Amino acid sequence: MFSLDAASKTYGIITALHATTLAFAPGTTSVLIGPSGCGKSTLLRLLIGLIQPTSGTVRFDGQPLSAGNLTRIRHRIGYVIQEGGLFPHLTAYENAALVPRHLGWSVAQVRARIETLAEQVHLPMDRLQQYPQQLSGGQRQRVGLMRALMLDPDALLLDEPLGALDPMIRADLQAELRTLFADLQKTVVLVTHDMAEAAFFGKTIHLMRDGQVEQSGTFAALLERPATPFVTAFIQAQRRWAV
Ligand code: ADP
Ligand code: MG
Repeated sequence: MFSLDAASKTYGIITALHATTLAFAPGTTSVLIGPSGCGKSTLLRLLIGLIQPTSGTVRFDGQPLSAGNLTRIRHRIGYVIQEGGLFPHLTAYENAALVPRHLGWSVAQVRARIETLAEQVHLPMDRLQQYPQQLSGGQRQRVGLMRALMLDPDALLLDEPLGALDPMIRADLQAELRTLFADLQKTVVLVTHDMAEAAFFGKTIHLMRDGQVEQSGTFAALLERPATPFVTAFIQAQRRWAV
């Protein structure tokens, strides 16, 4: 569904992502994990075309992203960031309705879609009349997810979607999200810096370090056959936090 072909990204003298070749298969959930600043968000932003690669190519469904197809491709990708990334001056409902209204959906069509999604993400309809700051962190994320799913995209990109939540709420949402991903059969790429969360979600985990993918594989493979001392150290450091 997504692929990077020797794609890199530099900002001045900083290489946020070294030339990387990677593919994300349709219908799978993959996780990007690694220390802060290792290039996870940069990789995700390249996939959705928010930034352009300095070298190499990014493809969606086989097509290289270009100015000409970007809008059409964006509509096939839902994007969720930490805290939901909602517009504060719009109600939750208006946030979710924004893009479909812009695309010319009728009020009734938008309403029907929002009702379906509110049920899927377990958000009571009355909450949607609230402004983002009146909602809890978990509710904001549910709205962010609804907004991302409005156009029934083929893929979902989530950048630390649960990072700002309390542990209990986080655990609940993790379980719900995993069920939702399985039900919807979307191609999901999720960024986290928590190995337990990565293992929970991702069949394939890409462990990143300093703008490169250090190792890709299942959690079990990373655990049993770490490719480098960094992988071992990263997993061990996370274990210490987990106890
Ligand atoms: P992560 O999401 O893993 O924490 P990022 O992808 O956000 O990492 O950043 C990777 C590196 O690129 C970091 O060194 C960061 O400071 C740098 N970087 C990211 N975005 C920009 C930008 N817009 N301008 C300059 N440097 C950036
Ligand atoms: Mg980031």
